[in-house]
Amino acid sequence: MELGGGGRGGGDRVRRQLQSVGRLAAYLGGGFLLLSATSSVAVRALRAISDANQRKFAKPCGACEGKGSYSCRLCRGSATIEWSPMHDPVFVNPCLCPTCDGTRVQRCLNCLGNGYA
Ligand SMILES: [Zn+2]
Ligand SMILES: [Zn+2]
Repeated sequence: MELGGGGRGGGDRVRRQLQSVGRLAAYLGGGFLLLSATSSVAVRALRAISDANQRKFAKPCGACEGKGSYSCRLCRGSATIEWSPMHDPVFVNPCLCPTCDGTRVQRCLNCLGNGYA
C-alpha cells in the first residue's frame, strides 16, 4: 500500500519537476531572447553613436559633396559606353557601362560611399 502510494507520489513529483524544468527553460529562453534583443539594441545604439561621432568630426567628402556617389565618369551618366573592338568607327557598339553596371552612378572612391572622409 505504502509502496504504491509512494510510487504515485513519485510520479507526481517527477511531473511537477518536469513542469518546473519546462518553466525554467521557458524562463531561460525568454531571458536569452531578452538578452539578445537588448544586446542587439545596444549594439545598434553604439553603432549609431559612433556613426554620429564620425559624421560630426569627419568632413563631408569633397569628391562627391557628401553624397557617397557621383555620376559615373566612364559613361558620364548615360549607362552605356560606345565600345569598338577594332577601334573601328563603323562598328561602335553601345555597351553596358562596366563601371556603374548601368546604374549611372558610381560609388565615390574617395570616401567609399560613406559621404564623409
Ligand atoms: Zn557608367
Ligand atoms: Zn565621396
